[in-house]
Amino acid sequence: MKVGKIWMDGELVASNEAKIHVLSHVIHYGSGVFEGIRLYDVGSKSAIFRLSDHTKRLIDSASIYKMKVPYSLKEINEAIIETLRANQLKTAYIRPLVYRGFKDLGLNPLSCPINLMIAAWEWGSYLGEEGLEKGISACISSWSRPAANTLPALSKACGNYLNSQLIKIEALEKGFQEGIALTTDGFIAEGSGENIFVIKDEVIYTTPYSDSILPGITRNSIVRLAKKHGFELKEMKMHREFLYLADEIFLVGTAAEVTPVAKLDHYVIGRGGRGRITTLLQGNFFDIVKGRASDDFNWLTFI
Ligand code: PMP
Repeated sequence: MKVGKIWMDGELVASNEAKIHVLSHVIHYGSGVFEGIRLYDVGSKSAIFRLSDHTKRLIDSASIYKMKVPYSLKEINEAIIETLRANQLKTAYIRPLVYRGFKDLGLNPLSCPINLMIAAWEWGSYLGEEGLEKGISACISSWSRPAANTLPALSKACGNYLNSQLIKIEALEKGFQEGIALTTDGFIAEGSGENIFVIKDEVIYTTPYSDSILPGITRNSIVRLAKKHGFELKEMKMHREFLYLADEIFLVGTAAEVTPVAKLDHYVIGRGGRGRITTLLQGNFFDIVKGRASDDFNWLTFI
């Protein structure tokens, strides 16, 4: 990947000079929290999708771990915009990371400094253009999401992504494009980096926060779009076989956007492509982020 300038604690530095100490706490113990945000091309301008919601989640993720971010929400938003401008990006994936730096390596992290870095680069569709149109293949992972009261799922913490990597690697090695993990008591949780929606008999289902999921911003966007259309929408604990019998399934996330699942564990879902309701909601989502429809929810920050 090609990265230009990176914002590090207030300074824009060249990518190959953006370095931290190897004894930084984050490297050894995963003590960092981060965000993934997208910048979309909206005709003559570019717009960041739900900037303040992402920044708020970043600060919330940090606060669970008693990390006091040394910048306000407004300052972080401004730093993100500064980074995008410095790199003259038209579309981008934006990665802010708050991390515990170098001071001590004891498990008490509280003496380490809290640092912030922001990088941005061009990144196309995460699960492929074809995936967006035709759907992907997924499997139920043999790895579970972290159980309640172990690693907090509501924090987008670096350490949580060791679990995501196991889910992703296993899926790829088995020949699937994505893995969907269960909770430790066997209910559907989410994909390695996506929340999940399931459609059955015209009702739209998604998993509750209590089932070890990240409170996704794309998930929230889809819920609001579905409600606007008047769909019946339920948060429900789901068994895996409920998915095998679904009419449609799709995964949502900043990277994956809105990606249909055509096959799950070799079961064909619905007609095995992008279903009718998925097509509608995916279309609405892309129309808003690409400026083809009005931004009724005030989701876009133009830069
Ligand atoms: N779950 C996990 C584990 C994720 O990493 C992500 C991506 N941030 C999501 C869900 C989707 O969240 P969002 O829509 O806010 O990107």
